[in-house]
Amino acid sequence: MSLGPDQDEDGPSPKRHRSSLKNADHEHVVPGLADAMAENTVNVVLDGDVLIDLNGLAGMQQSIALRVSSHVLCMSSSVFKIRLADPLSSHNTSDPAHLDAKEDDGDAMLLLCNIIHLRNDKLPSRIPTETLHHLAVLAEKYACTVAVGRATVGWFDKLYHAPSQEYVDVCRAIEAAILLDEPMFFTRFTERWLLQEPFGGKFNVPPNADARTKMLPPQLVQRRQALIYAFRGDLDLLLEPCSVVFSKSAEHYIDYAPGMVPEPEDDGRIGGSMCHVDQTAAMLFLGILRDERIWPATVWPPSLGEIVDAVKMFRMPDHDDCDKCEFCEDTQIKFRDAMKMVKSMHGTRMWGVCLDCFKAGGFNAGECRYEHAKPKG
Ligand SMILES: [Zn+2]
Ligand SMILES: [Zn+2]
Repeated sequence: MSLGPDQDEDGPSPKRHRSSLKNADHEHVVPGLADAMAENTVNVVLDGDVLIDLNGLAGMQQSIALRVSSHVLCMSSSVFKIRLADPLSSHNTSDPAHLDAKEDDGDAMLLLCNIIHLRNDKLPSRIPTETLHHLAVLAEKYACTVAVGRATVGWFDKLYHAPSQEYVDVCRAIEAAILLDEPMFFTRFTERWLLQEPFGGKFNVPPNADARTKMLPPQLVQRRQALIYAFRGDLDLLLEPCSVVFSKSAEHYIDYAPGMVPEPEDDGRIGGSMCHVDQTAAMLFLGILRDERIWPATVWPPSLGEIVDAVKMFRMPDHDDCDKCEFCEDTQIKFRDAMKMVKSMHGTRMWGVCLDCFKAGGFNAGECRYEHAKPKG
């Protein structure tokens, strides 16, 4: 089922709000919702001895409780353990204990409980970024990110590979990856952000975000600068074979090495003519780099991803250099090889931020869970 962008009556809105979840979405997040609403209880486990009180589920405001096991709660979460030991929430043995979670997001709490109770059959195959983020916030709050984290990898994956027409909130996905300590999708979604965000754009951290997340914007800016710097290095590789042919040292007469001059004619005039085969090729390639907005930087499109795409899509133009002589620089071959190298380097170079380095303040001296090259020394 597709979870497309918002389509309110007023037209599409850039951010997905909770109220915009469609009924079909709700049924997706909470299978069998209608029955549970009627009974005011969702049985995560039938013989559960704790009821978690919520203010609603799936966009419906209604008192509803999740029946869960105190044993599982205590094993998965130190916070639940402390709260269940609280005499205020103690109970006589016949009645279930109540835990008040009315401030928490109901859908996220249901997901969390299903995960820690190993109810994999109750987990939806995909959830919107917003719900995943709520779940991450809750897992952090109840100190059970270790128990919850692994179960969320499939949802991260679905969001990452979602079709382009489906709205995915990249910023919330990154924040969720930080909270859930998910290294692979932190790197992937930061890469996406770095490639998609216009050059001047900033990562907006919500005011209530935790201290770690607030460290993110400066590190993303730093990473973007490193990527731009690396890309300028790539441009040098492309420009080198084009620029060398305009140098004095490459100038030559047809069939004569640079610096050599053909024998003068009887009337004293130099007989040969200058060879321009390389220069013609270089002009052609420089013109196309400009047309494709790859070079110079003044014609760049507004985001790094568009430039990288332009390089990826670059096709060598038809160019006939059959007139070249043995002292020509082979501009066409050298430029094509440089382009091939730059394209292949982008596969490994254009990646996002490493979660372990991020958490270490920018550089983690130890081993990182996401494998990446590090400066030596
Ligand atoms: Zn030549
Ligand atoms: Zn790292």
